[in-house]
Amino acid sequence: MSFSDLGLLPELLRAIATQGYTQPTPIQQKAIPLVLAGRDLLASAQTGTGKTASFTLPVLHRLAGQKRPGKRQVSALVLTPTRELAAQVGDNIAAYAQFLPLRSHVIFGGVGQQPQIDAIKPGLDILVATPGRLLDLQQQGHLDLSRVETLVLDEADRMLDMGFIHDIKRVLKLLPAKRQNLLFSATFSDDIQVLAKQLLDDPAMVEV
Ligand code: AMP
Repeated sequence: MSFSDLGLLPELLRAIATQGYTQPTPIQQKAIPLVLAGRDLLASAQTGTGKTASFTLPVLHRLAGQKRPGKRQVSALVLTPTRELAAQVGDNIAAYAQFLPLRSHVIFGGVGQQPQIDAIKPGLDILVATPGRLLDLQQQGHLDLSRVETLVLDEADRMLDMGFIHDIKRVLKLLPAKRQNLLFSATFSDDIQVLAKQLLDDPAMVEV
């Protein structure tokens, strides 16, 4: 199977080629068609499997066909447990979206807020964030999450291990009820299954 068999936009195929990827990894082959179809997803995948591209590529494809967000609005939200992972996911998105007119940004704590506030202000197609800083900026009125169409929880097991469950629940309350949800986790503890049950609507399961 090739990336073009997956039905991704030519702009994405071009970006994939510049990355030197020749064929989709197993998780990409399984997840990309499901995400393109708008399904909720429960995916188990370790780092190194190509999991980041398995959600960023189809989310970017869908965003490209939608109208741009308004001021301070976000269309797709990716939550990560750490700033390192947020930065890494953000770098992947920047590479994959290089030929598309989409705005993306990464926010996390421990650094100044003003550049993040300025980046969010015109609206973002896709925002990658750690939960604490996200809630901070939302509470200050700098961020409107009421138009989010897709939510991704990346490394959800690590988010729960790090005590982010209450922050995640607070974020969920700020999102519209009707949205696509993608949950990625290396492990499936009882806590993850409880979260999946609350979060996901008729999810497709993907394991690699
Ligand atoms: P991840 O599992 O998302 O952390 O990705 C691990 C590494 O694999 C990253 O450096 C990606 O750039 C790379 N990668 C992702 N998809 C592919 C692919 N289809 N072919 C080759 N490398 C890939």
